Amino acid sequence: MASIQIETKEHEDGWQKLEELTMNAHQVQEKLLEKILKRNAGTEYLRGFLNGQADKNVFREKVPIVTYEDIKPYIDRIVNGEPSDILLADPILEFMQSSGTSGGQPKFVPSTAETLEHMTFALTLRDHLMQRTMEFEDGLQKLEELTINASQIQEKLLEEILKRNAETEYLRGFLNGQAEKQVFKKNVPIVTYEEIRPYIDRIANGEPSHILLADPIVEFMLSSGTSGGKPKLIPSTAESFETRMFESTLVDPLMHKHFDGLEKGKHMYLAFVKPDNETPCGLKANFFSTIWFNSNSFKNGWGKDCTSPIETILCLDNKQSMYCQLLASLIQRDQVVWIGSIFASVVAMSIKNLQDYWKEFCLNIRTGHVSDWISDPGCKNAISSLLKGPNPELADAIEHICNDQSWKGLVKRLWPKAKYISCIVTGSMSQYISLLDFYGDGIPLVSTFYGGSEATFGLNVNPLSKPSDISYTFLPTSAYFEFLPVNKDGDGEKAHQGFPFDDPIHLVNVKLGQYYELVITTLTGLYRYKVEDVLKVAGFYNKSPQFKFVERQNMILSIDVDKTSEADLLKAMENATLLLDSHGIVLTSYTSYSDTSLTPGRYVLFWELKMKEGDDFPKLHQLTMEQCCSRVENSFDFMYKSLRNNNTIAPLEIRVVEHGTFDALMDFYVSKGASIAQYKTPSCVKSEEAKNILNSRVVANFFSPKNIF
Ligand code: AMP
Repeated sequence: MASIQIETKEHEDGWQKLEELTMNAHQVQEKLLEKILKRNAGTEYLRGFLNGQADKNVFREKVPIVTYEDIKPYIDRIVNGEPSDILLADPILEFMQSSGTSGGQPKFVPSTAETLEHMTFALTLRDHLMQRTMEFEDGLQKLEELTINASQIQEKLLEEILKRNAETEYLRGFLNGQAEKQVFKKNVPIVTYEEIRPYIDRIANGEPSHILLADPIVEFMLSSGTSGGKPKLIPSTAESFETRMFESTLVDPLMHKHFDGLEKGKHMYLAFVKPDNETPCGLKANFFSTIWFNSNSFKNGWGKDCTSPIETILCLDNKQSMYCQLLASLIQRDQVVWIGSIFASVVAMSIKNLQDYWKEFCLNIRTGHVSDWISDPGCKNAISSLLKGPNPELADAIEHICNDQSWKGLVKRLWPKAKYISCIVTGSMSQYISLLDFYGDGIPLVSTFYGGSEATFGLNVNPLSKPSDISYTFLPTSAYFEFLPVNKDGDGEKAHQGFPFDDPIHLVNVKLGQYYELVITTLTGLYRYKVEDVLKVAGFYNKSPQFKFVERQNMILSIDVDKTSEADLLKAMENATLLLDSHGIVLTSYTSYSDTSLTPGRYVLFWELKMKEGDDFPKLHQLTMEQCCSRVENSFDFMYKSLRNNNTIAPLEIRVVEHGTFDALMDFYVSKGASIAQYKTPSCVKSEEAKNILNSRVVANFFSPKNIF
C-alpha cells in the first residue's frame, strides 16, 4: 500500500525544537539576552554603557539603539587587526558580507562558530516546514488519484481479496476454490455479523485464523455495536492497520487546505484509552481508538502536536485523564489552533468537566501544583512539567472568562486562536450540534471522517460545510463496497430495505439522492458484510461518491458510542415490567428518547401505566419504580454499562405520564399525516413537539440509582 513519506527522526526532532522555541519564546529571549550580556559586558563597546554590569535592566536603559554606522569603527578596527574582543567576547571566525552598504562599502557582520550553528539550525527548520508542505500536497494529490481511479481500485481490491482468501474455509463453501469476481457476486451471501460470528468465536478460542482470512490476525477491533449483548470482534491485520494509518494521513492535508496557520500551533485533541481485553487464545481485543492512540503512528505523529501529554492520554483512569488533558490545554491555551475529539459527545463532556473543575484548574495554575487527587504518576509528572511554576496571570485570565455569566463562545475565549472544533457531528452525534454551536459561537464544526471498527469508509473533503450538509467521500482503498437500495419513508422514523432481491450496486454506480445500506468486503475476513448503516448519495468527488450518513439501522437510543436498538429496549422493558406485575400494574404504552439537554445525557422512558383491574391511576412505589429503572439498564449491553459506569451516561429516567397521553401522541402523528389504520407508537420520539406532548403530561418520574453496575 502506498504510503505518504513518514517523518524521519531528524524531522521530528526539528519539529519538537520548533515547538519548544515558539512555546517558550519569551523565556528563550530573556535567557538569550542574559547570555549575551554575561559574555560581552566586559567588551570595550559595552563597557562604555554598562560599566561592567551584566544586567538586563541597565542594558535596556543605557545601551543606545544604533545603526551599522555607529559600530563600523569597531568593525574596521577588527578588520585591521585589533582583537575582536573590543566588540564581542567570542572569536570571530569570519565576516558575513551584508547586501546592505555603508558609504558604498559592503557591511561586515561578525560571525562566530555559534552563530553559524544557529544559522544551520534555522535552515534545517525551514526544510522541515517545506517537507510538511510537500507532504500535504502529496496527500491532496493522493486523494485525487484515489477518487479519480475509484472504479479500477475497487476492482483490483476485490481481485486481491479473492486471490488471497478463496481457499479459506468460509469462502470455499461458496466459491469452490474459484477466485472469480462473478462467482463471488453470484454465490457469496450478504450477511450480518451473526453469520460470521461462529468463525470469529472459533478463532478467538484458538483455531487458526485462516478458516476466515488468509492473513494472520494481529488483534481484534472491538466494535461498539453488539451481537447478542456482546461486543463484536472485527479482525485486524498488520496490513489493514497500515491502510487505516495511511488514510488518516489524508485528513491533515484537507484541513491545511481550508485553514491557515495550523502548523504554527497545537490541537487540544481529547483522547482516551481502554484497558486491553484478551480472547481465550490470547489475541488482544480493543477499540480502534485505543489501538491507534497506543501506536507509534499516533505518538510520533498527531500525538506530538496535541496539548495533551501522551501520559495523560494513556492513563486508564478516564477521570484523571480528562482532568489533566483539559488542564494541559488551558496551560497552553495560546497555542491551540483547533480543539476536538473523535465524537461530539466527548467535546460536550469536556465542557461539563470545565464547568465542574474550572476553579480547581485555576488554583492548580495559580499555585503551580496539580491537585493531590491526580495520583497517576504519568499524569502527575507530565502536568507538573507543563505547569513549570505558579502562573497567577494565566489563572486570572481563565478565571475571568469562566466567571462570566454566559458561557456562549467559551471556546473562542479560552482558546483564542482556535479555528475549528473537530468531531463527528453526524448521525447520533447531531444531537450535540446546538450545544457545540453555543460554546463555539461561530467556530465551524468539522466532522472529518466516517468509519468504524471495520475500516475508514470516507473523508469529508469539504470541512467547512454546514453540519446538515456534511457528506463523506468514500475511499476505494479501505474496502470493496456494495450498496443495497433502501426505501426511506419521507419523514418517518425508520428506513426500510425496499428491494431485497435487487443486485447490490457498486461504489461508482450509486445514484444521486438514493438511499443505500452499506455492505463491505475486506481483506480481514468480512465478505459482503452489512455494516448496518443507511447512507444517502449527496454528490461525487471525481468518480467517488459522497454519502450523507442517514442512520444506524435499528438504533433508537444513543448518548455516546452506545447503540441501543428497538429490540434491545423491548427486551429490557419486558424484564423490568415483570416487577410491576406483583403490584397489579400493567404498562399500556411506552416510548423513549435520548435526553442530551444536560451533560451527561440519559435515556428517558415514558410509561403509561394502568391497574390490571379498574381504571384507577396506579399507586406507584418509589422503590419498585427505581428497581424498574435499574432492571432496564441491567438488560442493556456492555457498552451502555461501561459508559454508564464511567458517568458518560447519566442514570436512566422513567417518566410516568397521565392516562390518555399516548392517545394525544397518536393524534399528533395523525395530524402530521400518519394513517390511523397503520399507526404504531414509535419506540423513540425525535420531534420536539412530540416530546412536549409527553413532557407536559408527566405525573411522576424515577431514576436509576447512581451506581448500579
Ligand atoms: P464502531 O464499529 O464502534 O467504531 O462504530 C462504527 C459506527 O459508528 C458506524 O458504523 C456508524 O454507525 C457510526 N459512525 C462512525 N462514524 C460516523 C460518522 N462520521 N457519522 C455518523 N455515524 C458514524
